Amino acid sequence: MTYNLAGRRDNKYKARIKITVAERGLDVMREEIEAEFLNRRAVFTGVDQALLNDLKRQYAAPDFRIEGTGDYDVERARSAGFRSWTDTNLSEHRIEGYASATLTLKAPGVTPGDATDAQMSLVADLAERYGHSDIRIAHDQNIVLPHVHKSDLPALYRELLAAGLATANAGQISDIIACPGMDYCSLATARSIPIAQEIADHFRALDLEDEIGQFNIQISGCINACGHHHLGHIGILGLDRAGVENYQITLGGDGYEIPAIGQRAGAGFPAEEVVPAIDRVVKAYLDLRENAEERFIDAYRRLGAAPFKAALYPEAAHA
Ligand code: SF4
Repeated sequence: MTYNLAGRRDNKYKARIKITVAERGLDVMREEIEAEFLNRRAVFTGVDQALLNDLKRQYAAPDFRIEGTGDYDVERARSAGFRSWTDTNLSEHRIEGYASATLTLKAPGVTPGDATDAQMSLVADLAERYGHSDIRIAHDQNIVLPHVHKSDLPALYRELLAAGLATANAGQISDIIACPGMDYCSLATARSIPIAQEIADHFRALDLEDEIGQFNIQISGCINACGHHHLGHIGILGLDRAGVENYQITLGGDGYEIPAIGQRAGAGFPAEEVVPAIDRVVKAYLDLRENAEERFIDAYRRLGAAPFKAALYPEAAHA
């Protein structure tokens, strides 16, 4: 309500809560929100039980099956592709015998987050057959089937593979979140999608994805930050500098267990220098990490920004 009343409606480029906070001040906004909260609490008469019960019914757990995992382990031993996909794209489920499966929409050469109509129809069909009819669209531009019994995973994988939906890279460096950028968005000041594809292609060509492990890159094509670049372990913000695309890099962001806003590393890079810059940071991380289990964000927290900034700006480090 506070933002609704105070937000900028006169300028679509400034119709963002962060702009309103910056213009009016955090303390003013906080006071107004607290006052609004007190107003609302005074007239709050309790939870609408009928609505609550309806919500509970809609989000009731499915009728989980209690049975063996079938050919799951046999297939893992037999098929390297299945093993790789299950290693990377499955999450633990609270019910024994189940897993949550991530279908990354980050196949080589494909626009990050895009799926064809045929792929979407197939996923709906697969969810009905293998996933208790449940699908989640995740913030990382992927699809999650949250409840798949392990005995169904070999068949699910085969169908995903045939449809180009079995890319084994969930949470890896090629699983990049990118906004539409200049390819589709009229507000953009730079391209996002080609930059994401170039970075993903680069590390695929080096066959380093598994070696690098969990690594989160996020890209926005303007300051509106729809790619939430500031929450990427590496964030990339595309800007316009006198008619030329320029990309600022932030380091150390995290939108998961320990939320953190990435810090701007320094001067931006022209488009053709983004991949080499990211490559230097990643190579520095591989050199500096304590072991293969230490993720980039953990190494960053342990070491601070300095060694990664030095990798980004080698000229400055040697000046
Ligand atoms: S961040 Fe990306 S999607 Fe959002 S307004 Fe800017 S260019 Fe468009």
